[in-house]
Amino acid sequence: MGKPTGFMEYQRKTGNTVAPLERIKNFKEFHLQLPKKEQQMQAARCMACGVPFCQAGTMIAGMASGCPLQNLVPEWNDLVYLGNYEQAYRRLTKTNCFPEFTSRVCPALCEAACTCNVNGDPVCTKENERAIIENAWATGLITPQPPKVRTGKRVAVVGSGPSGLAAAMQLNRRGHSVTVFERRDRVGGLLRYGIPNMKLDKSVIDRRVDLMKAEGIEFVTNADIGKDVKADKLLKEFDRVLLCCGAANPRDIKAEGRDAKGIYFAVDFLTSVTKSLLDSNFEDHAYIDAKGKHVVVIGGGDTGNDCVGTSIRLGAKSVTQLEMMPKAPDQRAENNPWPEWPKICKTDYGQEEAIAVFGHDPRIYQTTVTEFIKNKKGEVCQIKTVKLTPKKDEKSGRMMMVPVEGTEEILPADLVLIAAGFLGSQKYVTDAFKVEVNQRTNVKTDDGKYQTTKENVFTAGDMHRGQSLVVWAIREGREAAKAVDESLMGYTNL
Ligand SMILES: Cc1cc2nc3c(=O)[nH]c(=O)nc-3n(C[C@H](O)[C@H](O)[C@H](O)COP(=O)(O)OP(=O)(O)OC[C@H]3O[C@@H](n4cnc5c(N)ncnc54)[C@H](O)[C@@H]3O)c2cc1C
Ligand code: SF4
Repeated sequence: MGKPTGFMEYQRKTGNTVAPLERIKNFKEFHLQLPKKEQQMQAARCMACGVPFCQAGTMIAGMASGCPLQNLVPEWNDLVYLGNYEQAYRRLTKTNCFPEFTSRVCPALCEAACTCNVNGDPVCTKENERAIIENAWATGLITPQPPKVRTGKRVAVVGSGPSGLAAAMQLNRRGHSVTVFERRDRVGGLLRYGIPNMKLDKSVIDRRVDLMKAEGIEFVTNADIGKDVKADKLLKEFDRVLLCCGAANPRDIKAEGRDAKGIYFAVDFLTSVTKSLLDSNFEDHAYIDAKGKHVVVIGGGDTGNDCVGTSIRLGAKSVTQLEMMPKAPDQRAENNPWPEWPKICKTDYGQEEAIAVFGHDPRIYQTTVTEFIKNKKGEVCQIKTVKLTPKKDEKSGRMMMVPVEGTEEILPADLVLIAAGFLGSQKYVTDAFKVEVNQRTNVKTDDGKYQTTKENVFTAGDMHRGQSLVVWAIREGREAAKAVDESLMGYTNL
């Protein structure tokens, strides 16, 4: 273990962030890293617990606790403490293909499950992870690792999000020839067009994709499989096909006036902004603009928060975020003990920025939209909202949020962004490959397996498990790669 008394000697300290009023002036990342010496002291806080929940990645009370990749957290915390960054990098990449992504965007399930979190502050494992991987990039430890021998087998990966990229990396290093097909103009899935640049600078994806190309992976962009390219063609030309197409069907809001102009799905908004940033640094003006507008974000989750931060950077006049559910408690409830995932209210970066700019939290809880009100041009100009209250449904026994009469309100709204979640796989892809889907329209496999109902076709990521997290997508990609490899070779050493 690091320093036996480290957790008593050192307080948790994370890298500074650029102040909200400063960082909203651009779309750059704003989390700064600690100097190396201080990072080592932070790693010294790890107690190398006999039962390290941080790396367990198990389900407790229906929620994941600890790292889903089972990253060897205490091992590399110790190596960081000792200053052995090279060995730390080797241990970290045994389980994680892309620590540079997770150490920026992961909600850090490891830290929530850290034993220091029982009655104090957790080890800052996510920042230690970032220090290890960024040191490895900076010091030239990361070089292309093409396989020495090719197996002669060809694998098509459809979709270049974190699950597709993780699977492609693993299968290529094993010696299979891998082609990744992506319908968009750039590789990365929601890492590229979804998660905003200030959370994950897109050069971080380019750096990794360049490495994967140097290792021999072929990337084909602007190739929509099932539309531009027939599924049968892929099935003929490749020994195996792995579908990693994400859960791209956004959940809509059914309310009067939904056809008004100025109402967009969150991912369309975020995509347009990032694409314009990457294409022309916004000079093409080919994005959904929020400048001078009253923005209403429907959905209080992480995607909604990204819309808040993005709208503020674009110069929104006001930003309101509506959430159907009641506000979560600020501290763990008694029935939500460690090491369960804490169901507490989190004030994320976008909300922090809204507080700094507008003087109040943008979230309004237990509220939904009942009508989008249009002006003469058919554009949304206001919304009608109603308060909601929990009530048990008599038939199903389930708790529902129901409207409270007489609580209607009108809010200004020139731009409405719907961030109400996703509803599973897209039908044209599953139809093209003739794979069965489950009730949630996720692609069907046996539990813990990745083989679909169609021979030689596998699946991973959000398309398989439903809307989730980058860390889960990487895990699914790695596990699916094992399954594909085993089906090709009769065994797997991945
Ligand atoms: C706005 C937003 C913010 C998020 N922020 C976070 C975060 O901070 N942290 C976190 O852990 N998770 C976050 N998530 C969730 C996370 O991004 C996803 O869980 C993860 O990206 C899923 O990876 P995936 O590989 O399964 O699919 P995706 O990342 O969705 O990638 C699927 C890819 O497949 C391509 N594709 C689809 N169909 C076809 C086809 N027919 N032919 C060719 N290509 C196709 C798509 O264009 C896409 O590029 C966020 C999600 C959203 C929407
Ligand atoms: S991937 Fe996420 S949960 Fe796993 S160690 Fe990194 S930050 Fe923690």
